[in-house]
Amino acid sequence: MWSRLLVLLLVVPAGSVLSAQKACPPGEHWVNAYHRRAYSRGDGTFVSAADVKAHCHGNPANYHFWVSKLKSGRPLWRPDAEKASDWAAEEVERVLEVLDETPNLLKDNNIKAIYRLKESIPPGNPASTNLNDIVLYDDAFEPPFNLTHVLDHELSHRVFEKLSDGEKGSFRRIAKWKKDSRVKDHFTPKRSDKEYVRPNAMLSPEEDFADDLTEYVHQPAKLEKMYPPIFDWMKKHIGPKLKNGGSQ
Ligand SMILES: [Zn+2]
Repeated sequence: MWSRLLVLLLVVPAGSVLSAQKACPPGEHWVNAYHRRAYSRGDGTFVSAADVKAHCHGNPANYHFWVSKLKSGRPLWRPDAEKASDWAAEEVERVLEVLDETPNLLKDNNIKAIYRLKESIPPGNPASTNLNDIVLYDDAFEPPFNLTHVLDHELSHRVFEKLSDGEKGSFRRIAKWKKDSRVKDHFTPKRSDKEYVRPNAMLSPEEDFADDLTEYVHQPAKLEKMYPPIFDWMKKHIGPKLKNGGSQ
C-alpha cells in the first residue's frame, strides 16, 4: 500500500496543472477521460469530436519541459477583470499537440509561462503575449479560431522582436508598409485587402508578420498564393533559421 502510494506521489510533477495522475510506462503520461471538441490542426487537417477514455498517452517531444510551463492563476500584466480558468485535460492535450507541431524557432527556452484565462478584455481576443508570458483565453479553443495558429501567432511576435533592424526594415518594404512621417513608428498598409492573412494583419507590420510567419510554417502554399514576395522573404530570411533555430 505504502509503496503504491509512493509511486503515485512520484509521478505527479511539482506545481503541475495535471490532476489525479496514475502511473504510466516511461515515455507516457496519464490523461483523464474528457470530451474532445472538433478542431483543425495547423495544416487544416480536421479532427472530429470524440469522447476520449482515460489512458496513458505517448509523450510529445520535451513533454516535461512544456507541461511545466502551463501555469495556473493569472499574470499581473493583464487587467484584474480577466479571470483565471483551470486547465481542462482536453486543453492540456491540445496545447501539447500544438507545441509538438510548432518549430523550435518559435518556442524557445525563454518562454516562462502559458496561462489560461477566461475572457479577454476587450472580448473576442483569443490570446495575448508580454515578453516571455503567453495567455490563452476560452476563445482560443473555439471556432472560428485555430489553436495552432493562435498560439503560433503569439510566438511569432517574439520572433519579430528578435529580428535585426535591417531585417525588420526589409520585411516592411517587401510587405508594402509605408512609413507615416507624421506619427513616430507608425506604418500604413499598402497591399490590397485580400493580400493579408486576415484583417488583423492590417493593423501593423508586427501583426502582419505574426500572421505571415504562422502561415509560412503551417500553410506555406496558401501564403505563396496570397502574396509571393512575403513568401519569398520568409524563405530567405526565416527558412534557414527554422531548420536550426531554438532548442526545444
Ligand atoms: Zn498579434
